[in-house]
Amino acid sequence: MEEMDKGTGVAVQKNFIEEIIEGDLASGKVGSVITRFPPEPNGYLHIGHAKSICLNFGMARKYGGKTNLRFDDTNPVKEDTEYVDSIKEDIHWLGFDWAGEYYASDYFGQLYDWAVKLIEMGLAYVDDQTQEEIRAGRGTVQQPGVESPYRNRSVEENKDLFRRMRDGEFADGTKVLRAKIDMAHPNMLMRDPLMYRIIHADHHRTGNKWCIYPMYDFAHGQCDSIEHITHSICTLEFDVHRVLYDWFIEKLGIYPSHQYEFARLNLTYTVMSKRKLLELVKNGYVSGWDDPRMPTICGIRRRGYTPESIRNFADKVGVAKRDNLIDLSLLEWCLREDLNKRSNRYMVVTDPVKLTIINWNEGECSAATEVATGRTEYCLAPRNPEDPEAGERAIIFGRELYIERADFMEDPPKKFFRLRPGGEVRLKYSYIVKCEEVVKDTDGNVTEIRCTYDPDTKPGSGTWRSVKGTIHWVNAATCEKIRLRLYDKLFTEADMGSIPEGKDYKDYLNPDSLREVDALAEPALAEDNSGIAVQFERNGYYIKDKDSTEEMPVYNRATGLRSSF
Ligand code: ATP
Ligand code: MG
Repeated sequence: MEEMDKGTGVAVQKNFIEEIIEGDLASGKVGSVITRFPPEPNGYLHIGHAKSICLNFGMARKYGGKTNLRFDDTNPVKEDTEYVDSIKEDIHWLGFDWAGEYYASDYFGQLYDWAVKLIEMGLAYVDDQTQEEIRAGRGTVQQPGVESPYRNRSVEENKDLFRRMRDGEFADGTKVLRAKIDMAHPNMLMRDPLMYRIIHADHHRTGNKWCIYPMYDFAHGQCDSIEHITHSICTLEFDVHRVLYDWFIEKLGIYPSHQYEFARLNLTYTVMSKRKLLELVKNGYVSGWDDPRMPTICGIRRRGYTPESIRNFADKVGVAKRDNLIDLSLLEWCLREDLNKRSNRYMVVTDPVKLTIINWNEGECSAATEVATGRTEYCLAPRNPEDPEAGERAIIFGRELYIERADFMEDPPKKFFRLRPGGEVRLKYSYIVKCEEVVKDTDGNVTEIRCTYDPDTKPGSGTWRSVKGTIHWVNAATCEKIRLRLYDKLFTEADMGSIPEGKDYKDYLNPDSLREVDALAEPALAEDNSGIAVQFERNGYYIKDKDSTEEMPVYNRATGLRSSF
């Protein structure tokens, strides 16, 4: 099936989930689409979750259905309301809103009743074996398992024991409830899977009301069913769970939700497991869940990513049926594409060398007196050349300027079009200047470049003439000091999913993932209120960080202007 892309008119291939949904709608198998996003509130959401959010909410949006947010909070030990709050904030920030907000824990009563029903049907039993015994009894892929000695307890005994499990009579780990299916089933998950375990722990919502908690497999499908989820989309590793998902729904005779699997998102130079991300935070390898190097949604938001760029990325990645590794540069590309259209431009010099205009207000003007006497000259520059609506900013020219040290070479190679002794260059938005003299310290370092300017070359007035190079600059008298945080990838290895045996992912932490440098910015930067990252011309995209103080604004580099890969 093909359809036209509205923007480009190019035919786009539908993904397999869209094909399934359209088939189900056409055949009348489902009336309208209901999806859900089911995070476990045991950590912050990451870019992989963003992919799943865009898919679940995107499908419902496209087909006029709805999406529930359901917290999969069946394990009290790791879950917390801090995570619940952050998850909601992140989904909203990505641009989605849920129809209903539910918690698996809301359904504990119903799930308990369903467990009793399966006991009564002879399809569940209480097992007293230890965890190790149960594991050993399960057999291997080649070898069938062995039945538990407790497997054939009577319905009455099972009901009584399960009730007493619920009432708190037994210690953690002493008993479990298992489904009675088939200990020789080729799918290991069907060999009498666990339904309930005993955990005497406070739950972030139900407190100490329960001391038995359902396993994922006994909770997820039934929760889907209660909410009449039509398409329960999850990642590939759950495909072996689908038989069990269907088994519980069929035996209980409840609404037949269906599970569909797609490939999880893996990114180069990135780890995405919540356990590892938590470890990075706990051990101080990063400053927190929202460290701009983290793949968490709050991290990349702080880094300067926009919701638009992430949604576009999720789209570009598509929906695959086989696991794959997506290049981190695609994510950066999506950000650049968005910010190029929308971000305001400013000039910032990171490694300054002084440039003096020796024929500017000859003799009398120091930079300071210029400002004090108002003897300054403004140039107007577009805030964003891609967006005329963004307006203009005023840039003050003057006698003393700073340019990037790297934009001057005393003895440059042939193709160097920036400043050289005797050479000319245009100062962006302003005059053409010519290097007349170079001042050095006793070590031979350039300390000042003395230039003349050509008054006839101001853009918009005089006669236009062009030179090969244009460089950015700031005015020494009015520029403001800022601090830049230059981020690089957090890990040195592209494929973090297949690091060799005996190695740990932490062995691949990039020691240079953060470098801080001071820089000088044109004053208009401080007044920027666009709310998104800005472009430092000829350098990259940056966003003001919450660590900024009155004295020292801090800017995070979101990405350079070109791929760093
Ligand atoms: P992690 O392995 O990082 O702990 P998880 O799968 O345990 O992740 P959940 O909170 O259970 O985290 O995930 C919520 C939803 O997000 C699930 O439907 C899950 O399949 C999906 N999801 C998680 N990670 C990815 C990923 N990398 N790519 C796509 N979807 C993902
Ligand atoms: Mg999970």
